[in-house]
Amino acid sequence: MPQTLLITGASRGIGAATAILAASQDWQVAVNYASNSLAADGVVRQIRAAGGVAIAVQADVSIEADVLRLFETVDAKLGRLDGLVNNAGVVDLAQRVDEMSVSRLSRMWATNITSSFMCAAQAVRRMSTKYGGNGGAIVNVSSVASRLGSPAQYVDYAASKAAIDTFTLGLAKEVASEGIRVNAVRPGIIDTDIHASGGDPGRAARMAAQLPLQRAGTADEIAQAILWLLSDQASYTTGTLLDVAGGR
Ligand code: NAP
Repeated sequence: MPQTLLITGASRGIGAATAILAASQDWQVAVNYASNSLAADGVVRQIRAAGGVAIAVQADVSIEADVLRLFETVDAKLGRLDGLVNNAGVVDLAQRVDEMSVSRLSRMWATNITSSFMCAAQAVRRMSTKYGGNGGAIVNVSSVASRLGSPAQYVDYAASKAAIDTFTLGLAKEVASEGIRVNAVRPGIIDTDIHASGGDPGRAARMAAQLPLQRAGTADEIAQAILWLLSDQASYTTGTLLDVAGGR
């Protein structure tokens, strides 16, 4: 019997790679996206062409009403939830802390932190044995930025990921006895569109020589770690922050 997985921000990058890999491992997948319906439909089409089950669901996960609609849509179309990947996240243009506006900070906290709390809350209400559920697994996508700080680039982003690390530790302990494991993956520099959205499309290629493994990682290398944490092979792993960062 296939299990149901919701991945936020799965139209592109790490989320898309995770959706495609999950579908090949017998998960039926809800592919959430914010605005790029073309990309989300492409992921769903690729999964269906390979014989998998997937749906695309638009929802801005920084907005509570959208999160509620997202989970209700998954309930109605795919059935009982077994896993959540809190992957949607944004960076911003390089700035020093003394230049950052409050509106920039508010968007960063809402998109990278509040979204993960809201989605996890909905997932716990469906998966926790306390609510009559069958258990499940949550993987949060953090970043090694949480321990590097990203000076003169985006300290706000790094701090948002540090919040995700602490969120992972706390939630893992809160729901461990209710059948839910909660872990985080902390990617290093991965070759996706996110660097262009931070105004630096060449970042992954430029940084390669400075990384211990001498290259940026791929979205699929992060997806592999996420799928392991979701799987029964990781049955004794909870509250863990797994760095997948090429030694960075
Ligand atoms: P990406 O290529 O820029 O893709 C971002 C995805 O998130 C897209 O699917 C986008 O949807 C979605 N998204 C953005 N805001 C959203 C919102 N408010 N609601 C719903 N979906 C939203 O990013 P990525 O590099 O794959 O990053 C994925 C995660 O990995 C992020 O949490 C990021 O911080 C983390 N990470 C990335 C790297 C890296 O080097 N790439 C390193 C460390 C951590 P649309 O397509 O609709 O815009």
